Amino acid sequence: MLIVMNAGATEGEIANVVRVIESLGFRAHTMPGATRTAIGVTGNQGVVDLSHFENLPGVAEAIRVTKPYKLITLDLRPDRTIVDVKGAKIGDGSLAMIAGPCAIESREQAFAAAESVAKSGAKFFRGGAFKPRTSPYSFAGMGEEAFQILSELRDKFDLRIVSEALDDATMDLVEQHADMIQIGARNMQNFTLLKRAGRSPLPVLLKRGMAATLEEWLLAAEYVMAEGNYQIVLCERGVRTFAQHTRNTLDLAAIPAVRRISHLPVIVDAAHGTGRAYMVTPLARAGVAVGADGIMVEVHARPDEALSDGAQALTLEEFEQMAKELKAIHEVVVSHGSS
Ligand code: PEP
Ligand code: MN
Repeated sequence: MLIVMNAGATEGEIANVVRVIESLGFRAHTMPGATRTAIGVTGNQGVVDLSHFENLPGVAEAIRVTKPYKLITLDLRPDRTIVDVKGAKIGDGSLAMIAGPCAIESREQAFAAAESVAKSGAKFFRGGAFKPRTSPYSFAGMGEEAFQILSELRDKFDLRIVSEALDDATMDLVEQHADMIQIGARNMQNFTLLKRAGRSPLPVLLKRGMAATLEEWLLAAEYVMAEGNYQIVLCERGVRTFAQHTRNTLDLAAIPAVRRISHLPVIVDAAHGTGRAYMVTPLARAGVAVGADGIMVEVHARPDEALSDGAQALTLEEFEQMAKELKAIHEVVVSHGSS
């Protein structure tokens, strides 16, 4: 259920509605907007009697939500969510660039990439400390040691750190040391992890599962929101198809599709979405052109020596060139008023 308050509803009236929702054993999600506040109600298994709310002071209407989404939807929040990562914004109309190596391998490797990322104007640095690898024999990340390196380069280059959590234990560490929690494609339907992220004070970058429908992906975001964390960025990173010319098929149509349903920002990962370095720049350009709020790519000073995902890593020069091109495309998109 969704309760829409009158434009002039007072704080006291809103608090009273929240109190009534909670007294019925439900959870209230208050979403202030530019023109009015809406309150999402979750936790009700059956049908709730709308008359509980319709006559409360300040309420414009109570609406039964029949769609599977209750919180991620534009019905609840027509204004787009702006995700604030320690002062750096995603979804505010600027172009967010999240770049860095697949995994942190050494201080030297991470710093070389970070210098280039910062120079290009990107505000977000990615780098895995814990890597979910297909083979148990592959490099699985430096673990906790990586965070020392990440915290030094955060200070030196004024970058926000995005790093992946695999489970509860690594979530605790990512929470302590990073600025944004990445939930990877392989964990998109790890519901206990999603709920844990929903209780975190950090924003969440939620990648699409490689076999997830749009609805499953959005419901994964709904899991995080239902626990009270509304700071989520969705990330399209390609899905598995019969194509053999790419690692995954980057579903660019997902960007306008998400934006039609949800107020959450959505970005494009052109690295995992293609798996081939020579395709990363063209697909990142396309991602910006279709209205993504940002892009994610992998960067390495020596891709051929990378311990993971070298085949899709841009060199520092390639990255800097791409960043310039993306900014130019973004300006055109913004000036034409993308939806
Ligand atoms: C990554 O970002 O390095 C990663 C493992 O991505 P995904 O979960 O999309 O495969
Ligand atoms: Mn990777």
